[in-house]
Amino acid sequence: MTALLTASTCVGERHLVIGWSHVAALRVQTLLESGAIPVLVSPQNDDSYKFPDTILEDIAKGRIIRVDQAFELSHLTSLGREEVDKVVDRVYTVLPISSIELKNSIYTQCCKLRIPVNTSDSPELSSFTLLSTYKSGDFQMGVTTNGKGCKLAARLKRELAASLPSNIGAICNNVGELRKAIQEEDRLEFETKNIGEHDDDAVNSSALNALVHEFNMSKEERKIQRTRWLSQVVEYYPLAKLAEVSIDDLTSAYKRSKVEKEEKEEKAENLNKKGRISLVGAGPGSVSLLTLGALNEINSADLILADKLVPQQVLDLIPTHRCKLFIARKFPGNAEAAQQELLGMGLGALYEGKKVVRLKQGDPYIFGRGGEEYNFFAKHGYTPVVLPGITSALAAPVAAQITPTHREVADQVLICTGTGRKGAMPNIPEFVGSRTTVFLMALHRVVDLIPTLISKGWDENLPCAVVERASCPDQRVVRVKLKDVAAAVEACGSRPPGLLVTGYACEVIEKPSESKKWIIEEGYEDVGRINLEKE
Ligand code: SAH
Repeated sequence: MTALLTASTCVGERHLVIGWSHVAALRVQTLLESGAIPVLVSPQNDDSYKFPDTILEDIAKGRIIRVDQAFELSHLTSLGREEVDKVVDRVYTVLPISSIELKNSIYTQCCKLRIPVNTSDSPELSSFTLLSTYKSGDFQMGVTTNGKGCKLAARLKRELAASLPSNIGAICNNVGELRKAIQEEDRLEFETKNIGEHDDDAVNSSALNALVHEFNMSKEERKIQRTRWLSQVVEYYPLAKLAEVSIDDLTSAYKRSKVEKEEKEEKAENLNKKGRISLVGAGPGSVSLLTLGALNEINSADLILADKLVPQQVLDLIPTHRCKLFIARKFPGNAEAAQQELLGMGLGALYEGKKVVRLKQGDPYIFGRGGEEYNFFAKHGYTPVVLPGITSALAAPVAAQITPTHREVADQVLICTGTGRKGAMPNIPEFVGSRTTVFLMALHRVVDLIPTLISKGWDENLPCAVVERASCPDQRVVRVKLKDVAAAVEACGSRPPGLLVTGYACEVIEKPSESKKWIIEEGYEDVGRINLEKE
């Protein structure tokens, strides 16, 4: 069991501190910061400890109440606020180890009266414990190890605090102000049907985190554009810079006029400048499989031309407030026109002196038309820089616990396509027992492909895996024998993009089921949230 962590609002409450020591002084100090009124009472009538001058001043000003009596249990119900019948709101016992009897009776009485009580160094006599805390402006952080050691908690807190941006307080403040201003204006201007005013979950919903596309935006969408934008900015903007975002940045009218003005200025400036272009591999899906080079390109681009396959989590890294994103409008029957549209846009931006990044799924040169695009831009005088990416052909097997080569099982890997020119059957590779073959763009063709493979001498019992959305949270792996691949794909439906891995290497780590024709595994365990705040 772990403790329930909460943040308490204590303004105006009376918190009784029983003890006359340095620890009592520290407690009083924290209570003052929370807005509670500390009530100080000593266990006996003694003045052996001298409180610091600041505390004595606060006592003189009435911010701290000092009771000139030795503690009695009746103080629990006589020193509190009038409106709660003088029962104190909380109790902190900071007494020496020897006062065990007194501590026990305070604890028992507090429990009876339902007064939250904390006894220093005695978790067994506490209904709540204090966290090791850090504060900067409105940012607060509390650490607990659930009784494993307050020294450890303090050390962890220090380390965590050191890793935070130094302006964390200003960041919280600015985001809070922006959020308030937007909500206030939106409430006045529109019916905010979609956003609960004080509902953080609503503001962080995936609908609001969806990318703001420049095209196809409905009127309704425009209304929540700023909230959506703030939500994205908070999620993806470099943390330290969040302190500088202004309400004007979030105002679309301002944004439009500013962009237009800047574009005009840039055009004039860029007449003599030459644009640059890079072809960049975005990896198979997970942000953890993006290269640092690709990230750098994303962050320095003016225009990003992305494949429609580039996964959302990678697109979400694009700083859309200062970089245009265009996603290829490829749909069946339109591939060529869409490709031309994309290349044309790229060239236009290059003529204007812009930095263009052509972002491609996986690796640009593995079934990505990267070579054609290279030639196209080079022919027009813009030779692209090419950055490799992790290809799905090699990452998907790994994500599915398949080692494409394995001593005495597989000594070669073949990457091929399941779809030939204009949708025809591709060249069918010969069957090699020691080879792992990965078929891309094949799953919609398995009904034809599998019988063709078997007719050409492939082992019908060859272990295979269908790997879909490799490295994405909704990754799915179907382990199946070659002869049952088509039936499995038909039964499971498709979750594109997906590929087929074949070869005896498929059963080196994960054994196929003896009893079932296929088994399905869901999900991908990623390495966790990658910290991309330091751009
Ligand atoms: N250049 C890309 C491949 C583009 S061809 C790369 O190197 O990965 C498109 C095919 O790639 C899809 O039909 C599918 O077979 C495969 N593919 C891309 N991403 C994938 C992923 N995350 N999981 C499984 N297959 C994927």
